Amino acid sequence: MKAKYALYAAIFAVVITFLVNVFQKDRRIYDAEPYASVIIEDADLMSNYHWRGASDEWVSRVVGQVQAGMPVQVMEGHSEWYKILIDDGTMGWIHENYLKPSKKVLVREVENRTIDIWDKPETAGHKVIGEVHGRKWVTRLEESPKALNKQAFTRIRTEDGKEGWVFSYDLERIGWKQPRLIQRDEWRYNKKRIVKRWTGRPVEKFIGRYSEPHAIMIEEGRKIYFFNNLYLFNDHRKEIGTQVITEDGNIQNIHYSARPGQLIGRFPLSASLRFPIIMNNLWHVFDLSYHKSYNRFGDKLSETIYNPPQWLSWILVILVVISFISLFYIILFVPYYISNKIALGVSLNQKLANKIILLVAAISGIILGYIYFVFINVNIGTFNNYFLIHFLFVLGMTIGFISKWKSDLLYNRCSKCRNWSGSDAGSELVDKSEHTLTTTYSSGNKTVEHGTKEVWLDHRLCTNQECGHFWSIVRTRWSGWHR
Ligand SMILES: [Zn+2]
Repeated sequence: MKAKYALYAAIFAVVITFLVNVFQKDRRIYDAEPYASVIIEDADLMSNYHWRGASDEWVSRVVGQVQAGMPVQVMEGHSEWYKILIDDGTMGWIHENYLKPSKKVLVREVENRTIDIWDKPETAGHKVIGEVHGRKWVTRLEESPKALNKQAFTRIRTEDGKEGWVFSYDLERIGWKQPRLIQRDEWRYNKKRIVKRWTGRPVEKFIGRYSEPHAIMIEEGRKIYFFNNLYLFNDHRKEIGTQVITEDGNIQNIHYSARPGQLIGRFPLSASLRFPIIMNNLWHVFDLSYHKSYNRFGDKLSETIYNPPQWLSWILVILVVISFISLFYIILFVPYYISNKIALGVSLNQKLANKIILLVAAISGIILGYIYFVFINVNIGTFNNYFLIHFLFVLGMTIGFISKWKSDLLYNRCSKCRNWSGSDAGSELVDKSEHTLTTTYSSGNKTVEHGTKEVWLDHRLCTNQECGHFWSIVRTRWSGWHR
């Protein structure tokens, strides 16, 4: 691949990404108020909107308890989970089954689906007696008896008086009001720095900066705030979720929320090459994914200002994929381009021998390549997931560039006065032989390549006018390869 075209394609990729992001503005609904509900069964309050998770990404811990009959404020909704606030100031997440269902309910909607109304609560042998659209109000009349491994049904009455059975799943259990949606950005920081910056400062300021907390736990008179959208890098550990410990409204300390966190980027220098400013800002530029998200009522949360027709979307997708491969190539090419410049600069020192120049070139390539590789890996999230591919690519390029330098450095340098870049003064074929190359893959498959191996004697003329030295270099060429 010609580097020039790759560069053009990479610039195109950056521009397209930028445009795609601009034309996908988020339009969300934030103005809903908290509303009252009642607990119907004793339960644990969790720090996140799921049960205690097994994996780090799903970390959630118990922050308090609620008892049957307790009045609560519903603060926020996420799928089948609700964030509630109780009188003593404890806040946490609870599954909708623990909250009192309302008589007036909304029919769930995902895009434009309608819900069939059945004459009896059975999957087999029922008759469809009507239908109801999503986001319509209905009255809950009766629940089918709960049976293990069976769908739950609810008998409803629609606004126009139709009565029948629907899947309980299709009804919003407690959502007689729009639950609040809170936009939270994800933040990443070096732990030592954020602890130093925030210790002693009011927690209200912290909330103002990083949005309403996911949970509040009260322990021995101290309030502990949970922020699941904050990740702290503690040397080689990524702490998922953060708890902010406060006393009298001021921050005392900042910790991980439940577990010490997962090990990441354990290469030398990775901790010092991690720059939260890049992770928190620049990263969004490359976020090409189309966020087509809905709230639990089926309303679109994000919408595009301009929606291209289907065929144009596909062409765009193909173009973007191709140009991103180029961008990837350019990203990896940069350290080697710089090393090349260094090697050329060093070579201007006419007292240095070719082998020293080669050594400088190789070492700078390896050092720069390594620093660059670690930098990309610890700062751009997507690359973390493709560590091995990334690493092999860098390794291959290092080896490739070193052999390229080796050839060019020895070839272009006058062996007498060390002047850089001699000119070609003809070449002659010395030897020619038929060869067969066999490559065996790990799958056991073989490829056989027939070609000619040629040995050429290249004559070089020193471009230094005072020198005018002629010298010859032996070069080997293989007809199967293209230079
Ligand atoms: Zn010379």
